[in-house]
Amino acid sequence: MDKVIGIDLGTTNSCVAVYENTGPVVVPNRGGYQTTPSIVAFADNGKRLVGHIAKRQAVTNAQNTIFSVKRLIGRQFDSPEVQKTKASVPYEIKPAEDGQCGVSAGGRDFTVQEVSAFILMEMKKIASDYLGEDVTKTVVTVPAYFNDAQRTATKQAGQIAGLDVIRIINEPTAAALAYGASKGGNRNLTVFDLGGGTFDVSVLSASEGVFEVVSTSGDTFLGGADFDNRVIDYLAESFMAQHGMDLREDRVALQRLREASENAKCELSFKRTVEVTLPFIATKDAQPIHLQQSLSRGRFEELVGDLVDRCIDIVKNTVDEANMTTEDVHEVILVGGQTRTPMVQQAVETLFQKPFSRGSNPDEIVALGAAVQGQALVDETSDMLLLDVTPMSLGIATAGGRVSRLIPKNTTIPTQKKHSFTTVHENQSAVKIIVLQGESEQAADNKLLGEFLLSGIRPAPKGVPDIEVTFEIDADGIVAVRAKDKDTGKEQSITVAVSGGLSDADLNRMIGEREEYEINQKQDDSTQELFYEVEKVHQKVLELLPSAEAVITSDELHAIMDVLAEAKAAMNTRDQAQLKAVHGKLSEANESLNSIANQ
Ligand code: AMP
Repeated sequence: MDKVIGIDLGTTNSCVAVYENTGPVVVPNRGGYQTTPSIVAFADNGKRLVGHIAKRQAVTNAQNTIFSVKRLIGRQFDSPEVQKTKASVPYEIKPAEDGQCGVSAGGRDFTVQEVSAFILMEMKKIASDYLGEDVTKTVVTVPAYFNDAQRTATKQAGQIAGLDVIRIINEPTAAALAYGASKGGNRNLTVFDLGGGTFDVSVLSASEGVFEVVSTSGDTFLGGADFDNRVIDYLAESFMAQHGMDLREDRVALQRLREASENAKCELSFKRTVEVTLPFIATKDAQPIHLQQSLSRGRFEELVGDLVDRCIDIVKNTVDEANMTTEDVHEVILVGGQTRTPMVQQAVETLFQKPFSRGSNPDEIVALGAAVQGQALVDETSDMLLLDVTPMSLGIATAGGRVSRLIPKNTTIPTQKKHSFTTVHENQSAVKIIVLQGESEQAADNKLLGEFLLSGIRPAPKGVPDIEVTFEIDADGIVAVRAKDKDTGKEQSITVAVSGGLSDADLNRMIGEREEYEINQKQDDSTQELFYEVEKVHQKVLELLPSAEAVITSDELHAIMDVLAEAKAAMNTRDQAQLKAVHGKLSEANESLNSIANQ
């Protein structure tokens, strides 16, 4: 049976899990951490850094450090969400092809899919190193409220990373799987998932291995970063009142302020008050100025109260849409780092009138659930069934700028719906279909998924052609459209004018670049290993030499000294061929010195 990994590709942190005999386990990264920051940076020497190593250098290399990229994936550059993110990050966000958004760092432009792929590659490597084999099959999680474009873009990121994404599942659903997989009985669950960048809520009913999502909702622009921003603004405004300077205008100062604000927020989860100190944050009249400000939990709660209210309103609607009351919900599971804030926990408990549960660590539960689903997909003996729903209604634009709804939100997926189209003019040869996702009656207020042109319609009087269009949503929540001329039975050609993702050509180019990068990276890794090996033997020879000096001839001594000098030179250049050559000579010297020492 193939191994499948589960990846939680988070806004702030990512996590990878595998299914072992005893159940799903999180795989720690090389530093021993269970989660890896979803951060990609480019160092001065052009080297790509991902994870903790990228986070550590963020303050000094702010412009070349990309974070929160999940907020941008599958979005058009001119969307308000992208513009909001652009205003709050130190790296450059710019338009890419098709009006989508891209980013720029390290002197290069990237699509958002590529940056996400860099993070996925790191997660794949962590899992492959742990399993001792190259794993490709994966289940990736996305916020339940991700639309078609965001899901397609996530899947493409997986392709670029060399992963075979066998399923995309919703984060709250994954959490329920991890939490509920081991528990029996009929239960209604609500998963409240507040992460770094997004808020998701799902209501599920679980019984005997069948998990059915009943309703789901959320906000892809509500998360921990918004809590941080409130603290940033509060501290920056207090500083401005005191010193007349706006720290948010200085990229490096803003980055330091961001880190300090997030730390303060996290500390306020278990402390009543925190002291924020940022020495040398600015200079005025050639004098350094320090930021020193205390923040109480009460003040913090005033700053973020409306964000918590927004979450609670969404939960109320989602429970309503499931035709339940909060009393019908047996268990509330909290997921996502931001649910550690006591005010969030209290609001949830007040709403449901019961204590919440945490299946395990809120940062890990989503990846664990993805691994559970991955295992169920490859294990034919598994009787676990996951029935998920589409988070948004799918419709088509009709005359007068209105929408005709074809698949309502919360319909179980996969699903499909057929709709017949005809012509309105004599001999009309093409019909345009505008596909939309969203809940508004007004076409303009929905997300445009694509404009499809049904062309090559045979000449006929108006209203005669009968073209059947099938709208499909697959198990990943991704939409596909097919058309058939009912009179002739022929498939109609469809061209997509606005696509959610990358063209095949671009995708192939990015896959090629990744393969090249991996070859170089492998060389880098093997050079590094060789370097450590040479360094180790060099050290041993140095240690053994003094006691052997009296026994060996002066020619032998000089030969060994030459080898040591050659090793030093090779370690300086890090040239693989040189390192290899000197490693052999060093090992010989080490062996002969060793045998002398053992005589
Ligand atoms: P996630 O996307 O689930 O990794 O959640 C990340 C978010 O959780 C970030 O905004 C973190 O600042 C936030 N977070 C992590 N630990 C805490 C904590 N102790 N208190 C409040 N928020 C936290």
